[in-house]
Amino acid sequence: LDQKYYSMGEKAGDQECLNLEGDLEELRETFNSGKTRDASWRRSQLKAILNLLKENEDDIFRALKQDLGKHRCEAYRDEIGTLTKSVHFALDGLKKWMSPKKVHLPIIAFPATAQLIPEPLGLVYIISSWNFPIGLSLEPIIGAIAAGNVVVLKPSELAPACSAVLASVINKYLDNKAIKVFQGGVSVSQQLLQQKWDKIFFTGSSQVGRIVMAAAANHLTPVTLELGGKCPAVVDSISSSWDRECTFKRLLGGKFASCAGQVCIGVDYILVEKKFVSTLVSKLEIWVKKMFGDNPKECMARIINKHHFMRLQNLLSDPLVKASIRCGGSFDEDNLFIEPTILVDPPLHSAIMTEEIFGPLLPIITLENIEDSVNFIRSRPKPLTIYAFTNNEKLKNMLISGTSSGGITFNDTLVQHAADTIPFGGVGQSGFGRFPPWDDKKLQLFRDAYRYDYIGIGLTFLGLKKY
Ligand code: NAD
Repeated sequence: LDQKYYSMGEKAGDQECLNLEGDLEELRETFNSGKTRDASWRRSQLKAILNLLKENEDDIFRALKQDLGKHRCEAYRDEIGTLTKSVHFALDGLKKWMSPKKVHLPIIAFPATAQLIPEPLGLVYIISSWNFPIGLSLEPIIGAIAAGNVVVLKPSELAPACSAVLASVINKYLDNKAIKVFQGGVSVSQQLLQQKWDKIFFTGSSQVGRIVMAAAANHLTPVTLELGGKCPAVVDSISSSWDRECTFKRLLGGKFASCAGQVCIGVDYILVEKKFVSTLVSKLEIWVKKMFGDNPKECMARIINKHHFMRLQNLLSDPLVKASIRCGGSFDEDNLFIEPTILVDPPLHSAIMTEEIFGPLLPIITLENIEDSVNFIRSRPKPLTIYAFTNNEKLKNMLISGTSSGGITFNDTLVQHAADTIPFGGVGQSGFGRFPPWDDKKLQLFRDAYRYDYIGIGLTFLGLKKY
């Protein structure tokens, strides 16, 4: 893979000094020609993304393995399968999204009529992150194309094999007068940020989100910021044993089974009542073994690079944090692999409880009463998502009305991201703007999830079985 893509002189990080004028001029000309507004152009590009995914599946799998050690099954579920579904969703919705919508006017305006006419913004700059390097790059491109825009993508330099595959396949399959890829790191991103855009879509950290927003302010460019944070999972002392087993599996799935916990909506920490913690820890330990086997390295992703590996190791360097480890805790530096690790009550002022973990370390914090979880969450920055495992309607309502977050999901983890009809995004420090761009209302996903295994059913539809 290295040779195949890097020999094209497109090694991620290489394009440090860009000559942007010609490229941006070409994009603007394309947009001004009206070509990208046409429904047939939008459809052709969306269909080209489907072909791109299908015909380059093996190269994408290899790149994800190389950058992150992702298993084919995980790579299909979290990237290719999810993207395929999103393209179909856009193709199905395109006609409706493009149609003007009549609006009612007050009687005083009679006999006037009014319509809301959707209009593409123009030049869209997409900056993406490394944890789902293919998905987080193509997902916003699907939205931008469906809305009739021209696009520049800057993939993450920390996933160089995926960045190279993206540059190669986008050049080959999509209309290069309208969609361009610039590979590289901070310097490339900043040169692009200085340009005038009509929209910037950023996925990454809150720190860089601030830089992006400041640059956008120079041109009054609207931004969507998909940022991170600490997503809590509230675990009520659930009564039925079936519910409990399901809860344990879903908690672990939401922490370790996707990109080794390097996920913005992954479970960051668990809140549970003191009296339930020993049962929870022993059950989670059993399920870690059942889910990942004796050699979790074979099926779990690895840490993206040495820097993040050391960062995660440092989170455990505080002796009080180290003493709170109940399961796991081993680090394999050669393979950048960290064992699923569970901790109970590390100090609340320690870095593991104040910074986003973004890795396979799972602190459990004990409370006297589960209702105290509301104040616990409210006293911290607003998370991207809150998870709560409970059948108690009173607790559900307390969490909905007493906290603020980009979304709240009951009795499951991560699945909300795959539901296209639900607006995805953050609030406060976890970002703003929604994807797909629905209303900025607080998302509330109520599901009687215990009645069936949603993940199993959903992924069978996605065609995961063949992997
Ligand atoms: P990052 O902010 O370091 O980098 C993101 C992108 O910004 C990269 O393409 C990078 O090249 C660019 N960049 C970095 N520094 C820059 C600078 N000074 N100026 C301009 N551009 C710069 O984030 P990351 O390490 O790629 O991702 C991890 C973070 O992203 C986590 O906080 C995670 O929660 C968040 N995230 C959020 C979502 C979401 O959908 N909300 C999804 C994935 C990741």
